[in-house]
Amino acid sequence: MGRTAIFPGTAIDFMAKTIVIALGGNAILQDGEQGTAAEQLRNIESVCTYLVPLVRDEHRLILTHGNGPQVGNLLIQQEEAEDIVPMQPLDICVGMTQGQIGTMLQQALTNALREAGIQRDVVTVISHFLVSADDPDFQILSKPVGPFMGSELKERYEQRGHTIREIRKGHERPYRRCVASPAPLRLLEKRALKLLSDSGAIVIAAGGGGIPVTLDAGGSYRKVESVIDKDLAGEKLAESVSADIYLILTNVDKVALNYGTDRQEELHRVTVSDARRYYQEGHFASGSMGPKVLSCIDFIEFGGEVAIITGFESAARAINFDAGTRIVPDG
Ligand code: ADP
Ligand code: MG
Repeated sequence: MGRTAIFPGTAIDFMAKTIVIALGGNAILQDGEQGTAAEQLRNIESVCTYLVPLVRDEHRLILTHGNGPQVGNLLIQQEEAEDIVPMQPLDICVGMTQGQIGTMLQQALTNALREAGIQRDVVTVISHFLVSADDPDFQILSKPVGPFMGSELKERYEQRGHTIREIRKGHERPYRRCVASPAPLRLLEKRALKLLSDSGAIVIAAGGGGIPVTLDAGGSYRKVESVIDKDLAGEKLAESVSADIYLILTNVDKVALNYGTDRQEELHRVTVSDARRYYQEGHFASGSMGPKVLSCIDFIEFGGEVAIITGFESAARAINFDAGTRIVPDG
């Protein structure tokens, strides 16, 4: 069994846990980088070194990750090579990024574990989420994807039937394609995933929020061109494998109230009721910290022990001691 220490005031006990870890975008690409394979692998290697102590403690780890910049670059490649090879739709591009980031994580984590004398299987599962064809976001199209563009490209995209919106007024290239971001309902690979995880494998799943599919009238799955928020997908993944802990690793050490103001106040331990109140008061920006906090609230309401948001370097400390922001059940 694991050697997890108990930190006073946390719900975490001495058992080995099932932990779903959601890796933020900067695990793969840092600000100012171009996105070469070498840069991405280097970042992923550094994150993996922080995960080794958790594997050593015999926790069952299921990893998931974002794919914003990667899928954005793939969309540019589709666009630019249109006259040479057929364009692939967005849902296929999401699948491609699951493979791309999955192979890098497998390589980096396997090597980091081997260096630490640990032998564990690391496996990526191409993952699909069922979404509802009636999800309100299919009308709203709340998620901008791919490159910013000028008027010329905008028209080309519109001829293809895409919805293009002005995202940053006054810029030379102000437009971006907008797609639906439906809520993830059910992970199709849930049973296989659990089997793999129970066998001792470290599983990478639901990358880029998973590939969205709907069910048609005949009961068959159909892919839909949309993207699922990776933090919400990570939470559904955590429910799917009955995780004890949902750990979101990002580029801040703690979540804050009044973030970015002179009244900023870091949160250490928050009950789910307080978290919901802060969420409703608008403390967490909608495109970044909002979905993270919301997914933590969902996880605790589902019955999870603790949800934690922190930086990569704090991963093991957050589980074993008391780092980051913890969202815990009331009482
Ligand atoms: P990721 O790629 O990990 O999903 P995001 O950029 O989407 O990262 O979210 C993390 C960012 O959220 C932080 O860098 C920070 O700028 C921003 N943020 C917004 N509101 C808050 C808040 N209340 N507390 C802390 N960070 C916040
Ligand atoms: Mg984000």
